[in-house]
Amino acid sequence: MAKRVESPSSINTFKQCKRKYYYQYIQKLPTQSNIHQVRGNIAHSTLENFYNLDTSALTEENFARKCKESIQTFCLHYWKKAQNQLHQLSLSPDQERFYFEETMLMLMNWTNHFVEDLSSLTKKKNLSVQEAFLELTPVREQEYASKEHSVRGFIDAIHHVDDEVHIIDYKTNATFEMKESIRLQLAIYSLLYFEKHGRMPSKVGIFFLRHKLKLLPVDEQLLNLAKTEIKEIHQHTCRTEEMGDYPKTITPLCKWSTGKCDFYDTCKPHQKE
Ligand code: SF4
Repeated sequence: MAKRVESPSSINTFKQCKRKYYYQYIQKLPTQSNIHQVRGNIAHSTLENFYNLDTSALTEENFARKCKESIQTFCLHYWKKAQNQLHQLSLSPDQERFYFEETMLMLMNWTNHFVEDLSSLTKKKNLSVQEAFLELTPVREQEYASKEHSVRGFIDAIHHVDDEVHIIDYKTNATFEMKESIRLQLAIYSLLYFEKHGRMPSKVGIFFLRHKLKLLPVDEQLLNLAKTEIKEIHQHTCRTEEMGDYPKTITPLCKWSTGKCDFYDTCKPHQKE
């Protein structure tokens, strides 16, 4: 069987529950959108486009206010643009307002960090606001693909910090926790970067939008983690596409108080076979 092209999320799905992977990536059953995905996309688009801001009118006195206004404008714009998707979620007006305000708060939190970084960079390197803004602007939304490992991923932001490279992903997660699934995602990004550029990034991390940036150093061990997990999934999926070879992993992630796995009704994990 031909090697599939995997991604951090397909590999993490495989690790969480092989049956879920089977339904999603082999049978290609439809998945359902949810508010966390929709608002995550809105937050990503807002941050991606914020850096396109025309900085010519920024001054030391107004840049903090202008940055905040710009983020608010982008967030509102992308929220309106996602109205069709939001409508399909059947949220009540109160629920939609709650998620909008919460998303805006997260983005304001991120902006406060950005403003602080910009302010200290102007002082530290004696730069103008425009020069500091440019220096803080990352390469954004880059697709990286590896033929050798048959894996690909989209990297939210690549920052060049002096002679270091930092790879950052944005997350709206409630917890400020570097879970194993996140570590693996970052390990795969590091491997993809290494393969394309011939050097490891110095650090990889998550900007938890409710909290702050958390970085990990990149080393051989992290790259090996990615290689091992990628190899494992290819060995399995190249060998078989029979449903029986993709067992269910029944955990509280099948169904919880406010939701369920996209394939719960097909899978019927709690029904005796
Ligand atoms: S319902 Fe549970 S066992 Fe079934 S596919 Fe989803 S996560 Fe796996």
